[in-house]
Amino acid sequence: MPRSLEKSRAWLTRAEQLMPGGVNSPVRAFRSVGGDPPFIASANGAWLTDEDGNRYVDYVNSWGPALLGHAHPDVVAAVSAAAARGMSFGAPTAAEVEMAEIVRRFYPSIEMLRMVSSGTEACMAAIRLARGVTGRDAFVKFEGCYHGHADALLVKAGSGLATFGEPDSAGVPADFAKHTLTLPYNDPAALDALMASDGHRIAAVIVEPVAGNMGCVIPTDAFLKSLEAVRQHGVLLIFDEVMTGWRVSRGGAQAYFGITPDLTTLGKVVGGGLPVGVYGGKAEYMRRISPLGPVYQAGTLSGNPLATAAGLATLRLLETPGFFEKVEATTEHLCRELSAIASKAGVPHTLPRVGSMFTLFFGAHAVRNFTDAKQCDMGRFGRYHRSMLDHGVYLPASGYEACFVSGAHGEAEVEHTLAAAHAALNA
Ligand SMILES: *Cc1c(COP(=O)(O)O)cnc(C)c1O
Repeated sequence: MPRSLEKSRAWLTRAEQLMPGGVNSPVRAFRSVGGDPPFIASANGAWLTDEDGNRYVDYVNSWGPALLGHAHPDVVAAVSAAAARGMSFGAPTAAEVEMAEIVRRFYPSIEMLRMVSSGTEACMAAIRLARGVTGRDAFVKFEGCYHGHADALLVKAGSGLATFGEPDSAGVPADFAKHTLTLPYNDPAALDALMASDGHRIAAVIVEPVAGNMGCVIPTDAFLKSLEAVRQHGVLLIFDEVMTGWRVSRGGAQAYFGITPDLTTLGKVVGGGLPVGVYGGKAEYMRRISPLGPVYQAGTLSGNPLATAAGLATLRLLETPGFFEKVEATTEHLCRELSAIASKAGVPHTLPRVGSMFTLFFGAHAVRNFTDAKQCDMGRFGRYHRSMLDHGVYLPASGYEACFVSGAHGEAEVEHTLAAAHAALNA
């Protein structure tokens, strides 16, 4: 089914003169899957429409935020009304209070919080706070986990970096990265050993409690136990739930696994498609933030009325009883059928899913960490990706990403997707 991409290609040619790769975030350029990226003209519910009028069922969902689907009328109305009242004041507003209260209802471990404008900022600030609280410089992250593009966090990160096969970014001084200790994901013995030898100089352990930036990788019980145990060394446990928040369950991975982290970062879904990040946790720690305490953090557009309106309207809709059960049932059904189609086509694969996120990995082995993820067949993923696009299904343009299902994905969208997968996996 050949699509015309004439208009998208013309925009790409213009864009490439202006922005590196023609894009404002690297994975959008499709370099790791091949083919040209469609330029998106509009989106509604579960569907995207590109500049040439091609339509796709969307499993990127803006890389996670669009849990309600695109352009939900209540969210659009809330944002429009807020825009008419003024875009930004740089002063406190009632909506920020209402939004903070609703975030805390979903995440009771977040006793106090700060709103920022991205997941990157939230993680950067959480690390700074942990260092401020403990007076220690070092922190631990896991290979293949992504926590945004702050210098100290671009060490063995996943996502776009894994796709390009670069463990570190140029431009990050070795001195900035030297306090970042990295360990393999799902390796409790390695974490326990590091805590025993160096726990006293470590401020925090930051982790994606279900990894999503090396593809969807589920933590083992033993790994979760080791994470909880880092507190015995005075180390703060930071759950980066920028992706897993509202995805793994209504209360994120922390509710799903029954673990209370010291600090949590949120992003993506929390902003309903506008730029919002949140970091928060135990009040005794959050009181160390300026103006109450010595840890500085600020933002001109933090908590701005437009972003807050989108976030608040989204979170209110997510409180609708049955919402999470429905989206999870849709995802479960889709994954079960997708796996059956792949098996029947003789395609070795593994398909981890939790809540409304999943990854179809091409390989016969289980994927427990970044090394396993890198052994998957990324050439096959690229062919699958191009074929799915030709059949009207928009997947993340990297085999190291998770797919997301929204509340707007129904029976028709699932059937359309499975028919496309049938064609793609048998080709
Ligand atoms: C997307 C993501 C971030 C970064 O958020 P941005 O809003 O892109 O800065 C951080 N952590 C995780 C787990 C993410 O998935």
